[in-house]
Amino acid sequence: MENIKVLFITGSGRSGSTLLERMLGQIDAFVSVGEIRHFWRQDYKAELCGCGRLFRECPFWTAVFTEAFGSRKINFPEILALRQKVDRIRYIPAMLSPWQTQSYKKDKKNYTDILIALYQAIKKVSGKEIIIDSSKDVSSYYLLSTLPEIDLHVIHLVRDSRAVAYSWQRKKVQPHVVNETSFMPVFSPRHSAWEWFYRNILAEAGKVRAQTYFRLRYKDIICEPTGSIKLVCKSLQLDTISLNFINENHVTLQQENHTVSGNPVRFQKGEIQLKLDNEWQEAMSKRDKQIVTAITWPFLLQYGFPVRKKKAKENPCEPKN
Ligand SMILES: [Zn+2]
Repeated sequence: MENIKVLFITGSGRSGSTLLERMLGQIDAFVSVGEIRHFWRQDYKAELCGCGRLFRECPFWTAVFTEAFGSRKINFPEILALRQKVDRIRYIPAMLSPWQTQSYKKDKKNYTDILIALYQAIKKVSGKEIIIDSSKDVSSYYLLSTLPEIDLHVIHLVRDSRAVAYSWQRKKVQPHVVNETSFMPVFSPRHSAWEWFYRNILAEAGKVRAQTYFRLRYKDIICEPTGSIKLVCKSLQLDTISLNFINENHVTLQQENHTVSGNPVRFQKGEIQLKLDNEWQEAMSKRDKQIVTAITWPFLLQYGFPVRKKKAKENPCEPKN
C-alpha cells in the first residue's frame, strides 16, 4: 500500500496553527483535519466539527469511520487511555528505543494500528495527497516518525514566547463544545515559558526524523502570507499552486473544513483580515514579560524576536525584525 503523506504542524499551543492549516486547506493538495491527537476525547460526540455540525452528524467523519473501522465497535475512552500509555513526552525514549518493554510494544502497536487506519481512511475519503495534522504535540511528531507507513513532513511553527504566555493567561471559551460553557485551560507565564522552551527544543531536535522540516514564524504568516505559504509548498515540492485566496492582508476561506479541535478560526468562512495580535506588548505586566524572556531568550534570539524591550509599533509588520 502507498505511504500516507502527513504534514504535521508542531510547536507551542497558541501559535496560529489553526489559521495556518485553514490557509493550506484552501490548496487542492491538502486536507486539513485539525488536531488528530485530540480525536479520542471522551466528549467527542458533543463537540463540533470544523464544518459546524456535530461530529456524529458530519458526513466526512461518518465516511472516514466506516472506511477505517467498518462495523467494529470503537470505544473512544479506551483509545484515549491507550494514547496516554504511548504518546506522551515521557515515552519518547521508549518510542525511539529498539529495546522496548513487551507492554509498551503491545500498546504502541494497538494504538498506531488504529491511527494508521484513521489516516488511511482520511486519505481515501478526501482523495487528497497530503493530510495536515495540527496536533502540535512533539510526542505525536516523534511517534509518527517511527511509523514506516507514514511519510512525515513537519512545519515547526514559532511565535514570540511572550505573546504565547499572555494568550495562555486569558480565559477563553471552547467554541466547539456544545450543551455547556467550557473554558480552555489557563497557565501561568512561568509554566507557559517552560512548555514553550521544551517544545521548541524537541521540535528542533526531531527534525532529522522527518522527510522535510520547515520552520515558520506566526508573524511571517500574518505579515507575508503569500511568501510564507509559497515557502511551505516549496518545502513539500508542490510547485504549481494557486494562491488566489490570499489578497495582501486578507484571506478568503472557502473550502469546507472538517477539523478536530483548534481555535475559533475553524468556524470562520469567507474573507478574514490577517492582523498581528500584539496586545501582550501593552497589556502584559513587566514582571511576567521578564519571567518569560529569562526562560526563553536563547530561542527568542534564534528565531529573530527582540529580547530587549522595544516600543510597540503602530504597524507591527513594519519594519521586519
Ligand atoms: Zn465536518
